[in-house]
Amino acid sequence: MHFHVLTLFPEMIMQGLDTSIIGRAIAKGIISLEAVNIRDYTTNKHGKVDDYPYGGGAGMLMQAQPVYDTWKAVSDQIDAQGREGKKTRVIYVTPQGQTFNQSMAKEYAKEEDLIFLCGHYEGIDERVLEEIVTDYVSIGDYVLTGGELPAMVMIDAISRMVPEVLGNEDSGETESFSNYLLEYPQYSRPEVFRGKEVPKVLLSGDHKKVDEWRLEQSIERTRKQRSDLYEKWEKENQDYFIKKAKREARKRKKACKSQV
Ligand code: SAM
Repeated sequence: MHFHVLTLFPEMIMQGLDTSIIGRAIAKGIISLEAVNIRDYTTNKHGKVDDYPYGGGAGMLMQAQPVYDTWKAVSDQIDAQGREGKKTRVIYVTPQGQTFNQSMAKEYAKEEDLIFLCGHYEGIDERVLEEIVTDYVSIGDYVLTGGELPAMVMIDAISRMVPEVLGNEDSGETESFSNYLLEYPQYSRPEVFRGKEVPKVLLSGDHKKVDEWRLEQSIERTRKQRSDLYEKWEKENQDYFIKKAKREARKRKKACKSQV
């Protein structure tokens, strides 16, 4: 996966993503990241990239020309490397976009290249957005000063879904939001912390029981904390309740027999 970020603050992107798991994935060549400075492409002799909005109003707007030329240079470069630069998805990070989520991260992780466009000031001239943007994506209903943090958030989440980025291939699959459920509680050493014990089942060595317990915990946690997700999960997993009811009926029958 090759990430290309069009921004006025390339150092923010490179520094922000160059550590820990994502930094290691870049070093190993599993993903690549380039941040391209839009200012390098302005034709204004003073290096200006913004101007007043027509019709008046607060703040400045990023102009169309430098943004378009930056995109053109990046997509030409992708073409030159034998991939399809002109068809590469261009994500404009904007509070007006569709809210980013885990299933979008999984979808984007299938792409070979992704171009992120970061706005600043009051945003970007609409005409260049119409010309180059394929996806409008937000990280939530609040307004930030620039698109760099949203782009970094998305690149981090997408990278984790790229095969081999996470050490353990399973961990992306059992995490929160995979199949609508939040992840179960987890514990590490010591067995007792401030009088609180690790749940016994996790020390039992019985993997089937551990899996059952974790699923129950995930369901209960999602029901309590995210009823919106729980409803979706419940709708798609009616067989879980049928199987559970059968299991409990069998247990009751067994208990009755042993009492006789
Ligand atoms: N005037 C714009 C509006 O009302 O929609 C907001 C501009 S904002 C101050 C500057 C830039 O930050 C935007 O162009 C966008 O790239 C980025 N940005 C701000 N909040 C964001 C969010 N919640 N999600 C994604 N990008 C955001």
